[in-house]
Amino acid sequence: MIILLKQNANQKQVDNLKSWLEGSGYSLHESVGSSHSIIGLIGDTSRLDIDLISSLDVVEAVRRIQEPYKSANRKFHEDDTVISVGDAKIGGGNFMMIAGPCSVETEEQITCVAKSVKASGANMLRGGAFKPRTSPYAFQGLHGKGIDLLLEAKKQSGLPIITEIMDINHLPLFEHVDVIQVGARNMQNFELLKELGQTRKPILLKRGLANTIEELLMSAEYIMAGGNENIILCERGIRTFETATRNTMDLSAVPVLHKLSHLPVVVDPSHGTGIRDLVKPMALAAAAAGADGLIVEVHNDPVHALCDGKQSLTPEQFEDLCIAIRDILPHCIREGKW
Ligand code: PEP
Ligand code: MN
Repeated sequence: MIILLKQNANQKQVDNLKSWLEGSGYSLHESVGSSHSIIGLIGDTSRLDIDLISSLDVVEAVRRIQEPYKSANRKFHEDDTVISVGDAKIGGGNFMMIAGPCSVETEEQITCVAKSVKASGANMLRGGAFKPRTSPYAFQGLHGKGIDLLLEAKKQSGLPIITEIMDINHLPLFEHVDVIQVGARNMQNFELLKELGQTRKPILLKRGLANTIEELLMSAEYIMAGGNENIILCERGIRTFETATRNTMDLSAVPVLHKLSHLPVVVDPSHGTGIRDLVKPMALAAAAAGADGLIVEVHNDPVHALCDGKQSLTPEQFEDLCIAIRDILPHCIREGKW
């Protein structure tokens, strides 16, 4: 439920209303705007008397909201959330380019890719250390050693790093990781989400293979309910009947998410298509659709990659992609927002 306060509402009466609501067991989320302020009620409001609240002097309007997510909802938080990672920012017109291999393999591989993607325009390095593979016999990642190598690449390149968590017991290994990724397969691992809500690290939350946009926002809500509001949403393609691509990239998710939520949205055209030649056109389309960033797989030797080589760009192809993206986002370049 949302309570819209009158312009210049009497502060004492507003405080009385707030303490009454808190005393009735609701958590309040207040958003102070330049003309009107809003109080969002978190909790089961089904038994609250709307007419009674509407009749108060300081109240302009009361509305029950349909969406079950509150913290992630743009109705409570009109302005875009901007998340800072090192020197880079994402959201509110700031564009973030995340690039790197699917998996961290060797020191040479990850540092070489880090330096080259940075030179092309990346502002964060990706690389999986814990890999969710369909087959238990496939390469599972280097685990702690992989994170150590990412930290070395961070030191050598100056790029912040993002890597995927699969088990909350591994959290201590992520102490110096800048952004924690929750992969598509764990989007509804609610216990993991709750624990990440207790951290204050930015979380990149990927949409599940067969999850709706509302379910993605509910998962973001799980993390935010714990107090961690630094969530980056990621569209990475969904399962459909189509077999020509690895997944079907739901690009309409970008404007839909922007409408429903204030959280930044990145697009992953690598997993979204699974095919190297399709990464550039879909990345350009995502930028044109208003994505706040991209996460792209880049490998120095895709043919011999231990994971997802088929969808990985070479460093040269990534350079070409960055040049093309700059043409779509001249305002970001002009304003120093990428
Ligand atoms: C990845 O980013 O390497 C990955 C496994 O992604 P997803 O969870 O989207 O499949
Ligand atoms: Mn991958």
